[in-house]
Amino acid sequence: RAKDAGGDGYRTYDPSMHDALTRRLGLAADLRLAFEQDELVLHYQPKVDLRTGEIAGFEALVRWRHPARGMVPPLDFIGVAEATGLIVPLGRWVLTEACRQAVAWGRPLRMAVNLSVRQFEDGDVAGMVAEVLAETGMPPGQLCLEMTESVLLTDTDENLARIVSLKALGVVLAMDDFGTGYSSLAYLRRFPMDVLKIDRSFVDRLGGETEDEALVRTIVRLGQRFGMHTVAEGIENETQLAILREMGCDFAQGYLLSRPLPVGDATELLERGLPFPVPVRA
Ligand code: C2E
Ligand code: MG
Ligand code: MG
Ligand code: MG
Repeated sequence: RAKDAGGDGYRTYDPSMHDALTRRLGLAADLRLAFEQDELVLHYQPKVDLRTGEIAGFEALVRWRHPARGMVPPLDFIGVAEATGLIVPLGRWVLTEACRQAVAWGRPLRMAVNLSVRQFEDGDVAGMVAEVLAETGMPPGQLCLEMTESVLLTDTDENLARIVSLKALGVVLAMDDFGTGYSSLAYLRRFPMDVLKIDRSFVDRLGGETEDEALVRTIVRLGQRFGMHTVAEGIENETQLAILREMGCDFAQGYLLSRPLPVGDATELLERGLPFPVPVRA
């Protein structure tokens, strides 16, 4: 096809592909600069304990404070960071920043940090986490690492060894977006996770079809059966919250309770408490 273009050695290709590639390369370069220039920030979304109604911890969620484009959500750049490998230093920065903040708050809160596949499989992940814990003075039991099923998709002995080493540090391991992957049940037997996060897509459907409700109930029971805590993500209304509480789900997270907040607002929320009572489990 290059020849068809006139034999000058240039390839003709779909211009939309070219645009996409240019955008991706541009984004990768911009992101690296942004990272170096401290344009990344963490927002913190509270998780509420459904037995006490209190804030039990936060999930740290990264954002890119772009000088021209405003707040760029992680789904617009985490993929590129993964593809270029920038996720490794970026992820370490997120972990360090989140641990530092948890220590600064000085309360026995749990801080959850997302760990991507690339980070998980990069060298000695447990060694990296141990270093960050030591650098920040974060008590291991207060750190929760959230990993999606895709992290465990390559069910190799090497990955199992990584999980075992992470657990040995005393950190809490959560399976994020649970229910959206494949052999979830097999993984649960093999990988010793502490927390199941019920994916938002299931929470979304609560209050409608009874089949959806049965599915979520099964996940909560599964967690109980395997000695894992359950967290529901993406709770947006009272009905969903009431159903999850009645099912015995342990922790709740979602816009109904609070959006992810900049650090100042999260600190204020901690000091004042939630502006409304969260009904607790009987
Ligand atoms: P996730 O870990 O499943 O995080 C939950 C996402 O759901 C967050 O989106 C959060 O803002 C959003 N959310 C929370 N409550 C609600 C709700 O009630 N309704 C709706 N519609 N959404 C809700 P966010 O911050 O855009 O993050 C998206 C994903 O990006 C995260 O999904 C996570 O996979 C990834 N991510 C975020 N920060 C990091 C990070 O520091 N490192 C890595 N590796 N991934 C990250
Ligand atoms: Mg998460
Ligand atoms: Mg999630
Ligand atoms: Mg999710």
